[in-house]
Amino acid sequence: MIIKNVRILGGEPADIRIADGVIAEIGPALDGPEAVDGAGAIALPGLVDLHTHLREPGREDAETVQTGTQSAARGGYTAVHAMANTSPVADTAGVVEQVWRLGREFAHCDVHPVGAVTVGLEGRQLAELGAMADSAARVRVFSDDGKCVDDAVLMRRALEYVKAFDGVIAQHAQEPRLTSGAQMNEGVVSGRLGLTGWPAVAEEAIIARDCLLAAHVGSRLHVCHVSTAGSVEIIRWAKSKGWNITAEVTPHHLLLTDDLVEESPVGAYNPIYKVNPPLRTRADVEALRAALADGTIDIVATDHAPHPVEDKETEWSAAAMGMVGLETALSVVQEAMVETGLLDWAGIAQRMSVVPARIGRLGGHGRPLEAGAPANITLYDPSVRTKVDPAAFASKSRNTPYEGMTLPGRVVATFLRGRPTVLEGKLV
Ligand SMILES: [Zn+2]
Repeated sequence: MIIKNVRILGGEPADIRIADGVIAEIGPALDGPEAVDGAGAIALPGLVDLHTHLREPGREDAETVQTGTQSAARGGYTAVHAMANTSPVADTAGVVEQVWRLGREFAHCDVHPVGAVTVGLEGRQLAELGAMADSAARVRVFSDDGKCVDDAVLMRRALEYVKAFDGVIAQHAQEPRLTSGAQMNEGVVSGRLGLTGWPAVAEEAIIARDCLLAAHVGSRLHVCHVSTAGSVEIIRWAKSKGWNITAEVTPHHLLLTDDLVEESPVGAYNPIYKVNPPLRTRADVEALRAALADGTIDIVATDHAPHPVEDKETEWSAAAMGMVGLETALSVVQEAMVETGLLDWAGIAQRMSVVPARIGRLGGHGRPLEAGAPANITLYDPSVRTKVDPAAFASKSRNTPYEGMTLPGRVVATFLRGRPTVLEGKLV
């Protein structure tokens, strides 16, 4: 198969020949029997998400491995890491293998299960980290995401344990007592609205502690969904020491602010904006963008968090936290980072494919688009602007904060080891 007329990382037009799931050749005017017209789209290495909630097993009313990976493919992703806060929790080799097998069965993208750090996400006893690492799922990323591993002794032991198999602990940094009952960012807006505030320090204190612990035991730490300017400063300091720390930011934290809780196109107190960690201030957004641009924050991860309508369309305090994100991620990142001149397409490829694959130790993803690499390719047209229509999502859930917003860009096609999963914007 030949993909005609694409611009690799936004460069000069070229054709890509694929054979046996691998990029065989890149050059001008290649000819062959089967051709797909890239129409000048940008070619990126297939996107890799380090932070996806697929909800299966247990909450198949919100998402399944099938619909979640369809959603991923439509967003340009060829691999996702499925978070462990399912029911049952992915805290044993059996559950992670179940999720991994479902991923192989549907094959809209590769599914790499994340293993829980503690049994039942309860923060009392380490889960079977070694058994999950040795399982068919070959787990390398461990996280209690949704909850914080707040016990410092357990966190230390987890960091020590995963060194044996080059694993990483991905921490959801949220000091539980400082955020008891918290509803939104603690600040001017929460004060006016009378909602319990979620202070920045609750995130920053855990990140600081974990950086020190990771350095102390010489292990790898990954910080999930960084949301405050203070967190950026701590991570910048920790990296300056040469410590093995990586961090992610979500698309929504790069674009949206806590003012939306008070005033938005969909009214005040609309739980569509309720998310963990909460939307922060304009100054935080600016700091996160600068940190992603200068490499202090390594990657973009979606924190795709599907919820059924009845869990979101309710009063603010009762509503579930989270937003779907796979199908809008690249457009939101274009709006926040490319349109602002902070990153070019090579920079986007690093932060949404190459580095997340490296953190997750995925050898078959995030490789530069060159002969010999697996043909995991995303074709993206940045020149169009379209209104976000949740009814068109492949995800089973519709809880997007971007409904009705006009965003740039469109995923034209996605190829997983040479096989199209999306063509002309539609699932294959
Ligand atoms: Zn989280």
